[in-house]
Amino acid sequence: MTETVTPKDPNREPIKSSEIDPKFKYELSKIHGSEKLLKCFQCGTCTSDCPVARYSDSYRPRQIIRMAQLGLKDRILNSDTLWLCAACFTCTDRCPQDVEVASVIRVLRNLAADKGCVPIVFKEQAASVLESGYAYKIPELRIKKRETVGLPPLPKGNPENIRKALKGVKFAENIEKGSESR
Ligand code: SF4
Ligand code: SF4
Repeated sequence: MTETVTPKDPNREPIKSSEIDPKFKYELSKIHGSEKLLKCFQCGTCTSDCPVARYSDSYRPRQIIRMAQLGLKDRILNSDTLWLCAACFTCTDRCPQDVEVASVIRVLRNLAADKGCVPIVFKEQAASVLESGYAYKIPELRIKKRETVGLPPLPKGNPENIRKALKGVKFAENIEKGSESR
């Protein structure tokens, strides 16, 4: 049986007019990667070809694009579903309107990260990268197991260089933001 991914999905709630930011689509259209947002005519090709949508009840790239066009800024940026995209670019390759769907999603994620709206699982991975150079902490047991079967030690991470490289994009600050609420 296929397992489905079902994160929190506030996107199915009725839309209130107070949620709509009419300027949002124009702001997005000025950011590199999301310039063609307004060309989307909602054909649904991106969703039907998306490998993540196939296994998720809530992830629909077409819906994200439509919500962006409608100006549902906070709803998109606060949504965990935004982070399910695997950045495979299938949607971008197949969009008949040349909308760079995967790039629009990256732009939206960057805006969400600026607000501290990043799911806790990614914040934990990011914190681990900054601390050890690895996205996951390698359990001591696994390190010992490698020794017992004669495998060489794992290469050491270089968190200092990573921290230096990511300073310009305020990586550490962004993963700290909103930690108390997510
Ligand atoms: S494939 Fe392109 S035009 Fe069709 S819904 Fe997706 S973004 Fe819009
Ligand atoms: S880039 Fe993201 S939205 Fe596009 S097809 Fe791949 S997983 Fe789906």
